[in-house]
Amino acid sequence: MMNTLDIPLPCPSCGGKMYSIRYEAPLNVLRERSWQICKNCDFEQQTDDFKKKLLTV
Ligand SMILES: [Zn+2]
Repeated sequence: MMNTLDIPLPCPSCGGKMYSIRYEAPLNVLRERSWQICKNCDFEQQTDDFKKKLLTV
């Protein structure tokens, strides 16, 4: 199952709107996976990487 969600964060590359895609974790995967993707320039980053950046600021 895959969910998409608009997020209120600007793209770090072009400042455009972004949305996130999240895969529900199957039983054999420990963590769910999610990406943030820009609607304008297709920039993408993993949500985990984004969180790490927030923590290291
Ligand atoms: Zn962008």
